[in-house]
Parts: sequence; C-alpha cells; structure tokens
Amino acid sequence: MTEINRHQHLQQKNIFISCIVPVYNEEMNVQHFFERLQTFLRSVTNQFEIIAIDDGSRDATIEKIIALPKDYHIKLIGFSRNFGKEIALTAGLEHCSGEIAILMDADFQHPIEILPTFLNEWAEGYDMVYGLRKNRDNESRVKRQFAKCFYWIMNKITKIDLPSGAGDFRLLDRKVINALNSFQERTRFMKGLYGWIGFKRKAVLYDVQQRVAGKSRWGFRKLLELAITGITSFSDIPLRVWGFVGFIISVFALIYSIYFLVYTLMYGIDLPGFPSIIIAVMFLGGIQLLSIGILGEYIARIFTEVKQRPKYIIQIKDGF
Ligand code: UDP
Ligand code: MG
Repeated sequence: MTEINRHQHLQQKNIFISCIVPVYNEEMNVQHFFERLQTFLRSVTNQFEIIAIDDGSRDATIEKIIALPKDYHIKLIGFSRNFGKEIALTAGLEHCSGEIAILMDADFQHPIEILPTFLNEWAEGYDMVYGLRKNRDNESRVKRQFAKCFYWIMNKITKIDLPSGAGDFRLLDRKVINALNSFQERTRFMKGLYGWIGFKRKAVLYDVQQRVAGKSRWGFRKLLELAITGITSFSDIPLRVWGFVGFIISVFALIYSIYFLVYTLMYGIDLPGFPSIIIAVMFLGGIQLLSIGILGEYIARIFTEVKQRPKYIIQIKDGF
C-alpha cells in the first residue's frame, strides 16, 4: 500500500488492526486493560481483534478473559504452561490476521494514549514503529547497569542495530509480521529479530508507566538468560575469539621457549621456577575451561534447535 492510501485507509477507519497482548498472572489487570484497549481500538477502526496469549497463568487470568463481553473481539490462546513472553508474542504473530499488529503489555506500562502516534507514523510510510523509553528510572540501578552493559556488548559484537530502551512495544506492518513468521528458530530473542529483518522503522519516545497491579516477572536470572540468548543467536564472535587468543598465547610460548632454550644451553638449569609453572598451568586451564564453556552455550542452543520440538503447546483457544 502506498503512503497516500495508508492515510486514507486510516481516516476511513477500514484498517484491520490486531492487538497482541501476552498475559501471565495478570488477573488484576486484564478486565480493566482490555476494556480500555477495545475502547481505543473502536475509536480508530471498524475492524479489530485482540489476541490475548495466556502464558500458563496460575491465577484466574483465563477465566477473567473468557468472561469479557463478546464485542471486545478478544481471541484467546492459552498455553499449556509458561513458555515465556518471547514465545507468547511469536504465537500471537502467527495467529493474527490484521493488516497491522500492535504488541503491548497488559500491565499498563505501555501507554494506550500513544497509539495514535504509532498509527500516524505507519501512515507516513513506516513499516515498524516502536516505543523508545525516555528513561529507566523505575528500574533498579543494578538492572540499569546490566542493561547498559548488555546493549554495549550487543552493539559491538553483532551487526544488528539494537537501540537501548526499545522493547516489544511496537506496531508492525503485515510485511513485517510475515517476515517474523518466517523465522523457524526456537530460542527466540525478539529484539534481535526486529533489528535483523530491517524495513523502514521509526522510534516514538514515551514515558514508561508504573505497573498498575501485580509484579514484574523478569528476575535477574531470566534477564541473564535472555541476554545470553541474544548474544549467542546473533553473534559468533564469542565462539571465534578463542582462535585468536590461542594464536597470541602460542606466539608468546614460542618466544619464551626460544629464550629458555638459549638460556639453558648457556647457563644450565636452575631448578626454582615453581611460581611461573603454576601460574602458566592455572592461566591456561582457566582459559581452556572458559572457551569450552562458551562452546557449550552454542552447542546447547544447537541441541535445542535440532530437536525440532514445537515452540509452544496450546491448551485452549477461544474466539477464533
Ligand atoms: N509475560 C508473559 N510471560 C512471562 C512473563 C511476562 O507473557 O513469562 C507478560 C506479562 O503478563 C506482561 C508482559 O509480558 O503483559 C511484560 O511482563 P512484565 O511486566 O513482567 O515485564 P517488565 O515490564 O518488567 O519487563
Ligand atoms: Mg511490565
């Protein structure tokens, strides 16, 4: 669709919007959130669907969603267990039929008020419009430092452009949805995939809101896991750097052994030398274990991929 068409299409309220919302233990938020969301969608278009993906909630989230009025146009996908937000979003994208999809959190942290700007930017011709957090003030300092470090590494060792502060709050054109659906990989790092696929994109600044109810499920361990997935799925540098390290160490070893040979021939052997031996053994042992560990990270991921297991298992579907 050309740019002029997009504007007209928006104004005539004909655009088919899919809103994709992953929910996990959000019983306190769903009623209010979906009510607000559908009010907004109704005001901008005549055709929409809300795809709620229940990521194995253990509270009354599913029951509350099913009980919502039919004219909210909610389609529910209930996973058989918790598969994680990345997989929930993947399922949403695979099941949506809109011309555009909007990905949102159910905890009100992504402001609905900013969606008209997203739609306008789409009409201007951008295929991907994403929210860029103005600040991370409501996160702990450790988490902030960790994030900063992660983005620094990612931008240094991968070729993809990964803006810090951009998350899953996005509007995607059908072209982008189809591109994302063509990825077969199971260990998913959505932020990396958005960067990898390209397309015309535009950032929109927004203030992160406080979570209305419930609490964030992203503990340190989960974030660390996501960070390792991100790095290992988009860069092979950690894997290849060891060849270089090995080369440098060999060069030093060669120089040292020549020096040692000459020294021994000229002056004979003096026995003391325990510290240097122990340092060399420990240093090399450490480096070898580290490199094997990193090798293991990649092999573990290959292992997950070759098993070809389904990405998720759906327990219930409602509204389709
Ligand atoms: N979520 C999910 N599966 C999970 C964790 C979270 O579907 O395993 C959903 C959650 O219900 C919310 C969104 O993903 O709609 C963002 O989660 P959260 O607010 O916990 O993350 P944060 O905002 O702290 O990054
Ligand atoms: Mg949140």
